[in-house]
Amino acid sequence: HTGTRKFRRVLLKLSGEALREPGSTDNISPPIVEDIAAQIKAAHQTGLEIAVVVGGGNFWRGVSASNKGMERATADYMGMLATVMNSLALQSMLEAMDVPTRVQSAIEMKNVAEPFIRRVATRHLELGRVVIFAAGTGNPFFSTDTTAALRASEVGADCVFKATKVDGIYCSDPNKNPDAVRFDTISFHDCLTKQLKVMDATAFSLCMENNMPIIVFSMNEPDNIRRALVGESMGTLVNA
Ligand code: UDP
Repeated sequence: HTGTRKFRRVLLKLSGEALREPGSTDNISPPIVEDIAAQIKAAHQTGLEIAVVVGGGNFWRGVSASNKGMERATADYMGMLATVMNSLALQSMLEAMDVPTRVQSAIEMKNVAEPFIRRVATRHLELGRVVIFAAGTGNPFFSTDTTAALRASEVGADCVFKATKVDGIYCSDPNKNPDAVRFDTISFHDCLTKQLKVMDATAFSLCMENNMPIIVFSMNEPDNIRRALVGESMGTLVNA
């Protein structure tokens, strides 16, 4: 997949860790969030409709807490609440840049966010508002990658953009194997047969079953989020 592609409506998945400055004890770095917001704004100005799902791993991960003795469901609800904080941080920075946004929460929290209502979310997107989906799916035992796959399918996005630390999907772990080769494109089926981990199994199968392409790309390079969203070819495209 060389050159550029043109998208109409996309869903950007950011991990919670993406909002933290590496090595810092602050869970959220406002300057980093500002940089991400500026990139989203630049992509948005091209007329692209943008939905965002932010994770919560910079604050809390349900599985980690449950491995240390906390009840899993409760720990997961706490993780979902963490995603709300991240979503509000992103909204705040986008609004400071005059980008119209709405946060929709899967767990009702009327004083800080709209409730998630699919048809309203879709309407916001049509009207050019950046919609940030908070509180994951609203269900424990799921991930924000699954949220991204689910919401992208619900609002009819063209593609899920998964921003990561690595610049795509490799035939083997590039940290362990210096000869690892990166795929430009790969099919869902080949990911399965080669046992390549793109997202967790629930998220991956949701994308596969709904024919929702995934682009895995690195957000570590400056301006990469904008470049990916506007359709510059990068990372690995997973599709049918
Ligand atoms: N979570 C959940 N249901 C969801 C989405 C998230 O229970 O639908 C919880 C889960 O505990 C997870 C935490 O929220 O560990 C943070 O989400 P995630 O780990 O996906 O964040 P990321 O790794 O993307 O920062």
